[in-house]
Amino acid sequence: MIIDCHGHYTTAPKELQSYRDGQIAGLKDKSQVPSKGKINITDDQIRESLEGAQLKLQRERGTDVTIFSPRASAMAHHIGDETTSRNWTEHCNDLIYRVCNLYPKNFVAVCQLPQSPGVPPANSIAELERCVNELGFIGCNLNPDPSGGNWTAPPLTDKHWYPFYEKMVELDVPAMVHVSSSCNPNFHATGAHYINADTTAFMQFIQADLFKDFPTLRFIIPHGGGAVPYHWGRYRGLAQDMKRPLLSDMIRNNVFFDTCVYHQPGLDLLTKIIPVDNIMFGSEMVGAVRGIDPESNQYYDDTKKYIDKQSWLSDADKKKIFEGNARKVYPRINKKI
Ligand SMILES: [Zn+2]
Repeated sequence: MIIDCHGHYTTAPKELQSYRDGQIAGLKDKSQVPSKGKINITDDQIRESLEGAQLKLQRERGTDVTIFSPRASAMAHHIGDETTSRNWTEHCNDLIYRVCNLYPKNFVAVCQLPQSPGVPPANSIAELERCVNELGFIGCNLNPDPSGGNWTAPPLTDKHWYPFYEKMVELDVPAMVHVSSSCNPNFHATGAHYINADTTAFMQFIQADLFKDFPTLRFIIPHGGGAVPYHWGRYRGLAQDMKRPLLSDMIRNNVFFDTCVYHQPGLDLLTKIIPVDNIMFGSEMVGAVRGIDPESNQYYDDTKKYIDKQSWLSDADKKKIFEGNARKVYPRINKKI
């Protein structure tokens, strides 16, 4: 079985964005009392939005099931206030729930969180519990920077985040560290802000004893770990100078990298540097990069093809990357597939 650990509902029917546009327009009119409102999307519209996109690509590429969450760039936690974020998040998660009910063999759900700048992460616990306990979700996407590029929240290792981690541990669900859109024009969302955040989160984990406090807490750092594998020597050296644990020990049970690296040499570097026990197959399709690479005549994001070519990985290694590690990191998936 091939589990793609990283997919978002980027092709949702336009009614979802219309709702969001209305919600944002309403923020300008202070006389309006914000209400959750409704989004009318039919099951047929959901089927239509997926059949020619994610489902077609699953079939063509030979992947079986995608761990599926709301569109990350649209989370935009920096817009509006806590209520804005909660209403938007509940709608987005409810839509993912419907997708997974319509296609239980193809998608397993991961939730967005109703984060907001300056609001304690503990306030996201209720939505995590609703999604996991009531809707059968298996994990969450945690935004380390709800301010959308201004980095006003404390580091992920700060006690600020601990109440939320306690709930993750209790529910035995991991979080993918995933920022959203950038409101800072210095940082292009998918080209800079995403990769910066992946790299930043990893360095934060080196600097503190988070995994001593939470030995079973698990994070997926997406997009191949940002710049981390490429600069593995720098991070090993920094950890050494700072008298921190070996990186291989630090990540062993707690930090995992996906394979959303969109060329062969990059993915080769990833699987040669990072222990196979800490790599999970992911493509993030349909996502940030949708084109065909003229050098290979293949889709950039068809990341399975790159792994298939890696002769230094044994069959057992590939089974871990494609299936075993996802079952270990997202244990709730085992009841779903
Ligand atoms: Zn993503």
